[in-house]
Amino acid sequence: MFAEVIVDISHSDVDRIFEYSFDDCGIVPGSRVVVPFSKYTVEGIVIKVKEKSEFPPEKIKKIIRLLEETPALTPETLKLSEYVADTCFVTRAAALRLFLPVEMRRGKVKERLVEYARLADGVDADAVAPTLRKTAVKQRDLLYFLQENGQTEAAWLNSEFGAGAVRAAADKGFVVFSEEKRLRSPYLGLNAENKKVSLTAAQRAAVESIEKTEKQTTLLFGVTGSGKTEVYLELINRAIARNKTAIMLVPEISLTPQMLKQLRARFGDSAAILHSGLSAGERFDEWWRLRNGEAVIAIGARSAIFAPLTDIGIIIIDEEHDGSYVSESSPRYVTAEIAARRAAHYGAKLVLGSATPSTESYLKATEGEYNLAELPERINKKPLPDVEIADMRAEIRRGNNSPFSAALKNELSKCLESGNQAIIFLNQRGYSKSVICTECGHVQKCASCDVSLTYHKEDESLLCHYCGAKYKMITACTECGSPYIRYGGFGTERVVLELKKLFPSARILRMDRDTTRNKEGHLKILAEFSARKADILVGTQMIAKGHDFPFVTLVGILDADMSLHFSDYRSNERTFQLITQVAGRSGRADVAGKVVLQTYSPENAVLRRAINYDYKGFFEHEISIRKATGFPPYTSIVRLLVSGEDEETTVGVTKSVYEDMNAIYKQNRSAFAFFGCMKAPLKKLQGKFRYQVLMRVYGSPDIIRKAGKTAEKYNSGKVGVHIEINPNNLV
Ligand code: ADP
Ligand code: ZN
Ligand code: ZN
Repeated sequence: MFAEVIVDISHSDVDRIFEYSFDDCGIVPGSRVVVPFSKYTVEGIVIKVKEKSEFPPEKIKKIIRLLEETPALTPETLKLSEYVADTCFVTRAAALRLFLPVEMRRGKVKERLVEYARLADGVDADAVAPTLRKTAVKQRDLLYFLQENGQTEAAWLNSEFGAGAVRAAADKGFVVFSEEKRLRSPYLGLNAENKKVSLTAAQRAAVESIEKTEKQTTLLFGVTGSGKTEVYLELINRAIARNKTAIMLVPEISLTPQMLKQLRARFGDSAAILHSGLSAGERFDEWWRLRNGEAVIAIGARSAIFAPLTDIGIIIIDEEHDGSYVSESSPRYVTAEIAARRAAHYGAKLVLGSATPSTESYLKATEGEYNLAELPERINKKPLPDVEIADMRAEIRRGNNSPFSAALKNELSKCLESGNQAIIFLNQRGYSKSVICTECGHVQKCASCDVSLTYHKEDESLLCHYCGAKYKMITACTECGSPYIRYGGFGTERVVLELKKLFPSARILRMDRDTTRNKEGHLKILAEFSARKADILVGTQMIAKGHDFPFVTLVGILDADMSLHFSDYRSNERTFQLITQVAGRSGRADVAGKVVLQTYSPENAVLRRAINYDYKGFFEHEISIRKATGFPPYTSIVRLLVSGEDEETTVGVTKSVYEDMNAIYKQNRSAFAFFGCMKAPLKKLQGKFRYQVLMRVYGSPDIIRKAGKTAEKYNSGKVGVHIEINPNNLV
């Protein structure tokens, strides 16, 4: 027999199929195998098995061995990997890696086997104990213990009775050992009661609509606090009752434990979690539980869309508008597209849920491509929180240089006095956004990136938030030597310090990338806040989404317009989404919620619509602009990013890329809304100069494919050329 194998080396030189022979009948498409490859052995995945080979027999080498009995990939995921390779312009090997836990490759992690000991068959402690030497007290105790308690972990027995006694009893044949697989389960402490709620009429209607529609995809448009989660749980419940499986995606790792808790409460061990924050062993075991069918619900962030499930009945993407669903690193897949393909294969339903749908999804719903289900009201008709705008220009005129407006200070003290909780949101971690010399105006910058450095007071460092480089905080300007340094902009660290000055007795938690580095770090902070061990939670966008804190009655948004000033075409949409999401954290239980939104442009139309929860008004306005100016969803933004350490070579390659694309542009002018070549917005990043050929293309897969080929043609070790399609951030 012969097998076509993709070897686990992601390099364009070996991006093709290699053939091997085998006689082990356990090898099927999807099997992981070890094969000889030039002078080495490598792992690979069998994609096809056949009787005959075109190659002369003496040229064909033999598969060395099969790695696991169960094929890691299924016919469906094998096909999907081909699609990913084609549409994301990556090698087949790179695409296949998405479907396996990293640690499975190269056998980095294996099953955890635990050694157990028990009395050998037919051994009776009462009979054999008297035959032992009088001094062998420990051995006697051990035998009686095992007689009473049965099989016990050997490591525990060794520490309890002494390894010598255990070994001696085994040598005499009284005790035998066996090994068993032990699962490493994440978040063991995470359990909740299954509070059985009956769905509201609106929730029931949404469930019915999603199940009955002929359309594969439903956009579930439900305001914050409208009970979308219960709709998801019911849909999953119905799917598994029909012996189908389910995939539930949330936008951030920090939201997975909360969802897992609810899934476990309802479905017990049937839910498995997949995300990069787990330990290698946990991820490995959870993955296999799904592959073996021990677990039928996969939950996780973006990458869980590749969960090794078959017979999928439902796929849910919660907060579908979130940017994290588009991969920022290669392979740059779009989660919803992968989900749609998997759903189509199994005839499953796909649900995209959001309080602020992406304009792209909402357009599809209005045009009839998606089914639209709505939850227009909060549970129990609770009102959405009242939003007050604080004009920060007026605050400055009044001489208020603190990060808090008078209105927010006032609301904070009322909230704390009444024993409720508050959330303060700002999208900047660290102490100050930049460090500026008051004498010469010099801004401290990263040596390898064209960006200013953020001051982190906790470890007196200056951090580059783009490349992660860390510098020592300066005591004097590096340009002119002046010791007078000004801090530009507030970060979460500073906001906490300022809050402590204002409210010395308030208990404050901070949640951002810096405070959540430890494993389960998110969980700890959220649990503390949930248990009301703190009064104020200060955080970045990590706290904006999804969390349900019943005692939060006040939300302060410190820099509502920060994202308005980005050059990105999505900045309006992002601002609207962010404000709605953050505001949605307030007033979710009995006490009415309040939001104070601080801004330097209080008359801005996007902010106005956001504070009135006018999504439809926002959408109408936004989509008409996109149409008129030729932006997504009417076009695709295609960027060929050229980057290299040597500026001259980089410019040279950019010219070649431009010329190739320009030839295509000249032939199809009408397919382009824009075509140009320029420096990238971030001219230098991680020591590399960056140039781009930027295009906006009207639905033309052919042009995109050609752009992908052009990137491949010029991409080299020296100068990278990469294609991005509708990237999240055009930096
Ligand atoms: P969303 O995800 O739409 O923002 P959630 O799913 O978090 O909203 O629901 C908001 C709150 O309403 C939660 O505390 C949830 O437990 C509660 N809830 C949801 N559905 C019901 C129901 N049918 N009956 C009672 N409470 C409900
Ligand atoms: Zn200076
Ligand atoms: Zn940097």
